[in-house]
Amino acid sequence: MSELPILIAGGGIGGFAAALALGRKGFPVKLIEQTREFGEVGAGIQLGPNIMRMFDVLGVTKEIRSAAVYPDMLTMRDGFNGQPVVEIPLGKDFETHFGRRYGVIFRPDLHNALIEAASSLPTVETVSGVKVEGFRQKDNGVSVLTDAGILDGQALIGADGLWSSVRSQLVGDGQPRVAGHIAYRAVLPIEDVPEHMGQHRVTLWAGPKTHLVTYPLRRGEIFNVVAVFHSDRYEQGWNVYGDPEELAERFSGQHPDVRSMIDKIESWRMWVLCDRDPISKWSDGRVTLLGDAAHPTLQYMAQGANMAVEDAVCLAHLLAICDGNIERAFAEYPTKRYLRTARVQLTSRFYGDIFHAAGPARDLRNLILPRRTPEQAYQGMAWLYGGVTDNGEQII
Ligand SMILES: Cc1cc2nc3c(=O)[nH]c(=O)nc-3n(C[C@H](O)[C@H](O)[C@H](O)COP(=O)(O)OP(=O)(O)OC[C@H]3O[C@@H](n4cnc5c(N)ncnc54)[C@H](O)[C@@H]3O)c2cc1C
Repeated sequence: MSELPILIAGGGIGGFAAALALGRKGFPVKLIEQTREFGEVGAGIQLGPNIMRMFDVLGVTKEIRSAAVYPDMLTMRDGFNGQPVVEIPLGKDFETHFGRRYGVIFRPDLHNALIEAASSLPTVETVSGVKVEGFRQKDNGVSVLTDAGILDGQALIGADGLWSSVRSQLVGDGQPRVAGHIAYRAVLPIEDVPEHMGQHRVTLWAGPKTHLVTYPLRRGEIFNVVAVFHSDRYEQGWNVYGDPEELAERFSGQHPDVRSMIDKIESWRMWVLCDRDPISKWSDGRVTLLGDAAHPTLQYMAQGANMAVEDAVCLAHLLAICDGNIERAFAEYPTKRYLRTARVQLTSRFYGDIFHAAGPARDLRNLILPRRTPEQAYQGMAWLYGGVTDNGEQII
């Protein structure tokens, strides 16, 4: 095996999951992150049973368990009248169905668990404050161009997120698609949250062209609030702080519990939501993509990071069994993943339509969805939570 490392562009959840997965299989890895310090935004992330299985493979389940919360219910309520639309129990029956529980975690806690596990491996080296700008393929490796000079490796994995520069050279399909939806995120101390707001559940309040998601984090010490609304005001990119007055206006007239959450928060962080149309190939020679760089999705199924970690496990597995033929492993990897990740991308758009329904579509949603039994809901989720092997390969 070449002494040169496999280079990973990007030190988010996907990049560190890849470093950990590859490092554990004995591959030398060098991860390159553009920011000076590794970090994740102080917000929540939902963890399906599918990513929980990947944590077992990556050896971080204990760390995740000590920081996660395991809610007892996923609920959707109508944003105006507060009526329950969907209630999916996450207790024993859910665990029996999917083999793992459903969790929620503070992003920095997940990121740190991956960073610490990866950094403890002798095979993993990390570099921060260095930006990847492009790459050149050679016969037996790649030269990666960075703002600090050229780095040579056996291969390059672009885990550099939605605005991936590796993707723009590899696939060249332009800018991500701006969804016309904006997310505001904040966390509250749990003491500020009324008991009845569901300190033990994930609640989604679905209103016309808006929705609000709440759930507890950090062993129940803080409460995550995400407010989403339609807007064409922002074409591209993101701002650090959101405008509380605009938010209050967008959610005006909604249920008092929704407005009380919006009113409690003084400082929001704002994201312009984007995705891309799915593609079936995201490898070329010794360069490939992972996570949001490969298949960015709207967050409405709460699966973007889940998919990134599955990618990492799958790619490490394929590299380990390819007898040193990196090109073959990289070519095979999207074929083991793209139908699953495409389904997440496309279904997430559809979920957005359901969450934001108005008029007859809202009436229909509120009539039909409450009729589903938990058993039927579990069947509907089987492809997502059960549709992957322990090697991260899709089961179609
Ligand atoms: C509001 C919201 C809620 C969400 N909720 C969930 C959820 O509940 N569950 C879930 O699974 N997913 C969720 N997601 C999606 C999830 O956040 C992403 O899918 C996930 O973070 C993608 O990880 P990544 O490592 O691929 O990319 P990123 O997190 O974007 O990481 C990319 C990293 O690469 C670095 N980088 C970028 N360019 C370069 C470069 N040129 N050189 C070097 N480094 C570079 C960046 O600085 C960054 O550290 C949500 C997303 C949003 C917006």
